[in-house]
Amino acid sequence: MSYADQFKKMGKGFDFTQALAEADRCLLCHDAPCSRGCPAETDPGTFIRKLRLRNVTGAIRTIKENNALGGACGVLCPTPRLCEKECSTTGIGRAIEIGKIQRFLIEHGWSLGFQAYAKPVPRTERAAVVGSGPAGLSCAAELARQGVQVTVFEERAEPGGVIRYGVPAYRFDKAFLKNELQDLKDLGVKFKCNSRIEGAQGAQKLLDSGFRAVFLAPGLWGAERLKAKGRIKGVYTSVDFLAALREERFEELGRQVKGKAVAVIGGGSVAMDCAESALKLGARDVYLVYRRSYAQMPAEADERQAAQSLGVHFLLLNQPTGYSTDGSGRVKGLRLLRTRLGEPGTDGRRKPVEIKGSAWTLEVSLAVEAIGNRPDPADWKGLVKVDGSGLVLAGAKNRKTSARGVFAGGDLVRGPALVVEAVQDGKLAARAILESLK
Ligand SMILES: Cc1cc2nc3c(=O)[nH]c(=O)nc-3n(C[C@H](O)[C@H](O)[C@H](O)COP(=O)(O)OP(=O)(O)OC[C@H]3O[C@@H](n4cnc5c(N)ncnc54)[C@H](O)[C@@H]3O)c2cc1C
Ligand code: SF4
Repeated sequence: MSYADQFKKMGKGFDFTQALAEADRCLLCHDAPCSRGCPAETDPGTFIRKLRLRNVTGAIRTIKENNALGGACGVLCPTPRLCEKECSTTGIGRAIEIGKIQRFLIEHGWSLGFQAYAKPVPRTERAAVVGSGPAGLSCAAELARQGVQVTVFEERAEPGGVIRYGVPAYRFDKAFLKNELQDLKDLGVKFKCNSRIEGAQGAQKLLDSGFRAVFLAPGLWGAERLKAKGRIKGVYTSVDFLAALREERFEELGRQVKGKAVAVIGGGSVAMDCAESALKLGARDVYLVYRRSYAQMPAEADERQAAQSLGVHFLLLNQPTGYSTDGSGRVKGLRLLRTRLGEPGTDGRRKPVEIKGSAWTLEVSLAVEAIGNRPDPADWKGLVKVDGSGLVLAGAKNRKTSARGVFAGGDLVRGPALVVEAVQDGKLAARAILESLK
């Protein structure tokens, strides 16, 4: 199978018949527990009821009015621990597949050319959004719907943030994102790509140049690294590895991976994406190296099972300590120390304790470090209050920062989180910005 087949396109969602059949199973709960389970208040109880009553455009409008990235959330949300978890408390037996219905409705709207948003009444106020990930896009959409002139500044060549340059395209592809972005462009949102805002100073300049409010949503694009001397060929951060895939640099990666052994370090969802991608690139063996045990891996259970069923080897209770290299400075091994589980740490998880004398080396041709992301060194500190790890402090209900006219949300405030949570932050900030414009 070609890379194009494996990487560039995501699988199909529900068709009309499947979506209706699923909606027909809904119990039409009076208090819709599913709606309480959505962090962005997308209100599945209402849109499923409308679909069941065959009010299809009404159902689409409910989603879009509550969640400008309703399509992305339908595809990417971990619904079994959000709305569908709440649905399963109703005694229904098998929870309604809410994410799939949501995705169907949004795609169906696009196929009909249906405009879910009313044309906004233009206003004179301007607002700037820094970063075009889910948080920035959601804030921009909410403001634009109220007629505010919104400009989104994006450092990369195309908008979307992690859902454009992180999540592999076989889970969320460009064509889908393009449609979701078109809805924002139709609202009048302007995108300035290849436009990095230089930290505190850059944001201040935006305020000085007449933007009445600035929403900071640059996400987390700095990667935690394993300690190593200098740069080693064949060692990638998850950010660089996944971005290279989204930039379709398949030949460059394939050359290093095909028929060879790859190590992915980490136990979270991002590590699972990297491991699966390495297999799709043709790796002979992919080792997922994690210093704790299976039960403690942060990745969702279904993600872990999917990786295992694809053939990823789980190398647990092993702590990476560095790399060995060949004469050209290219990685040839990952140095490891075996661990055992010790007493629980401050986070309640049992700490890995290294076992003396257990050092060994795993031979690999490529390694991907997926051990966490942190804020970019671009510093917002001079303008707004930040915590010890560089995350910006912002009000839980209004996403206001310590600086007048400056709001912040998404991963920059929460740390690594979810698309749907970033969407909610964008909504909260937009409401507070609209209030401040009064
Ligand atoms: C590999 C991976 C897979 C994931 N999979 C899922 C999933 O399946 N489901 C889920 O719910 N969540 C998932 N997440 C988490 C989710 O993608 C994030 O929580 C979400 O994207 C955060 O949105 P954001 O808008 O805060 O930031 P981001 O999506 O990171 O977007 C920030 C944007 O700001 C830009 N930027 C940064 N600095 C500047 C600057 N100074 N000036 C201008 N622009 C700037 C960046 O280029 C980027 O485009 C995943 C995360 C990763 C890394
Ligand atoms: S909780 Fe489940 S059954 Fe009840 S309204 Fe929501 S989707 Fe329907």
